[in-house]
Amino acid sequence: MTKLIDGKHISALVRQAVAKEVMQLKSQGITPGMAVVIVGDDPASRIYVNNKKKACAEVGIYSEEYALPADTTQEALIALVQELNSRSDIHGILVQSPLPKGLDEKAVVETIDPRKDVDAFHAVNVGKIMIGDFHFLPCTPAGIIELLDRSGIEIEGKRCVVVGRSNIVGKPMAMLLLHRNGTVTICHSRTKQLAEICREADILVAAVGKANFITADMVKPGAVVIDVGMNRNENGKLCGDVDFAAVQEIASYITPVPGGVGPMTIAMLMKNAVSAAKIQNGLSL
Ligand code: NDP
Repeated sequence: MTKLIDGKHISALVRQAVAKEVMQLKSQGITPGMAVVIVGDDPASRIYVNNKKKACAEVGIYSEEYALPADTTQEALIALVQELNSRSDIHGILVQSPLPKGLDEKAVVETIDPRKDVDAFHAVNVGKIMIGDFHFLPCTPAGIIELLDRSGIEIEGKRCVVVGRSNIVGKPMAMLLLHRNGTVTICHSRTKQLAEICREADILVAAVGKANFITADMVKPGAVVIDVGMNRNENGKLCGDVDFAAVQEIASYITPVPGGVGPMTIAMLMKNAVSAAKIQNGLSL
């Protein structure tokens, strides 16, 4: 019987634990603070930013939004990040991606104080993840590890296949699975015999961005299937990268879309914001 991994439920447990930590910090006079910067009027970005602010409010994190016009200059954006870096009441800085054309996202991320980089996109934090000495983990891969752990799924010694090699999902996902002693293969658009490699996976993570990309013939019976994709199908309905109806017949565990990986990303962001507040106040994690 395939078990559904309930990301909604597990993310609520993570947020509850975060809210408890926030209460403890507040009792010591520390209120975790997060600044969320959005540039331009991309509707999807607006939804993400609203969800992040809502999540902050729910767990008791103070948040400030900076909504800047699409014609904001690189200098103005960098100046804002520098100002936020210097504020002791702001522990986490998040610049919503994508930025409008003409703005250099990489330069903006590199301006964020690595101790306030709650997305863990700064090169310093990426490097720390490589060597296994990290405070912040990128939210989506960290959320997936949390889903596996809380579902009692062992990673050590397992054959793990990650399809996708982006800097925000695929690569850090592979690294976290490796840190947990999985045997990891990363696949991408130039991979040959993709279906065969996927069929070897005990844990298969799909982060491609194409609806129904992972079909049942690519999945080993009994595999754990994690679907990161967030796509719209031909009817405009949200769906993942996995052909859910067919794959759920053969997987041992599977994440649905929506309600799987998605809710974990914001929950882990809240966790990172609390870690940032602790680090900046000299507390241990
Ligand atoms: P990217 O577009 O940055 O990366 C997609 C990856 O898929 C690339 O590495 C690409 O390979 C690979 N790919 C594309 N086509 C194929 C193919 N035919 N065969 C094998 N690999 C292929 O996407 P992201 O990593 O940012 O996101 C992936 C998905 O996850 C998206 O649907 C996104 O919306 C979703 N997402 C969901 C989140 C959540 O919270 N649930 C958070 C972040 C993303 P190559 O490098 O060779 O081009």
